[in-house]
Amino acid sequence: MDLHNPELNLSVFAGQALKSMQSHGIAPTPENYSVWFHYALGDNSELNHEIGTIISNNLGFTKENNSYLYHKYIISNRNQKVLDDATANAQKILVEALRIVNDFSGETKSYNHDTDQYLENIAKEFGDNPDVKNVFKELIDATAKLRASGENISHKLEESTREINHLRKDLQQVTVEAQRDFLTGVYNRKSFERLIDEQMMISKENNLELCLLMIDVDHFKQFNDKFGHLLGDEVLKIVARTLTDTIKGRDVVARFGGEEFVVFLPETPIEGGVKVAEMIRTSIAGKALKRRDTGETFGSITVSLGVSRFRPESDTLLTLIKRADDALYSSKHNGRNRVTSEA
Ligand code: GH3
Ligand code: MG
Ligand code: MG
Repeated sequence: MDLHNPELNLSVFAGQALKSMQSHGIAPTPENYSVWFHYALGDNSELNHEIGTIISNNLGFTKENNSYLYHKYIISNRNQKVLDDATANAQKILVEALRIVNDFSGETKSYNHDTDQYLENIAKEFGDNPDVKNVFKELIDATAKLRASGENISHKLEESTREINHLRKDLQQVTVEAQRDFLTGVYNRKSFERLIDEQMMISKENNLELCLLMIDVDHFKQFNDKFGHLLGDEVLKIVARTLTDTIKGRDVVARFGGEEFVVFLPETPIEGGVKVAEMIRTSIAGKALKRRDTGETFGSITVSLGVSRFRPESDTLLTLIKRADDALYSSKHNGRNRVTSEA
């Protein structure tokens, strides 16, 4: 037979090849296809004899046998390049088919496009051969089914991933909120206790300084009585912001309760703590409180502070706080708007 004859209808052999492959349960890979295309053509009697032997002895077209046939009769016969052109396009189409079958994660749109393109290519290559059409139709149907289930799965996966991310964000927010004081946004007392506990351990292990500031707004009851609780709340926010603006690095600000705040300063000796306390005091006292909308002024407020130094040999959180509180009491007792460090 003359394989260069353009009149020769290769689609007949292509159809036979695919039909044989299907009946023997052979995977439609390009390699297998080229074996069975030659088998259908009958251009290599040894190949046909070998396949006949496998069939009659019931040896089965295992992966190994298929690979053996391909290497012995196709690869090693590459000098017979005659058929390469004839099979190249069909191989390309099969590769495409396999790609589609295997690709469950792409877009539906692209899948539909692929399928259309694919069918067009088949029609071009194999004409109207009913065997070819049947084989490919089955392949496409199977692909579509797999595809549909694949898409369901990825849809569900996407959905649950989204849900999980949602929950994670909620959880993050709840976690952050649980650590903060709802009015001022600084750490709450619980967080303060956890954080300073950790820092006390670090300081003890590494022999590092640590000091604690207790801050209390002066005559705050009077302020509330005069201007109302809502404005009082605004003042607490201003105090918190001033504290946050004054500290740096690993220093921590927390609301201890009511109109009392705490600040702790890791790796800071008590002299440094007193300096920071003094900065806080002057900064707050220097603020002219003004109502933004009406411009009404409320004068100013002051704070009193007490500073204590962590004693790694003997301190618990309670004793550390107690000395800062005692120092704060001294500040109040001595006229307020002042800083006192522990005795
Ligand atoms: P001192 O200078 O001795 O600290 O006087 P003080 O009035 O600040 O102290 P006192 O302990 O007698 O009163 C504290 C006041 O702080 C009472 C309360 O009205 C006010 N306060 C506590 N928590 C809040 C709050 O969340 N918002 C407002 N607006 N006021 C608060
Ligand atoms: Mg107080
Ligand atoms: Mg007070």
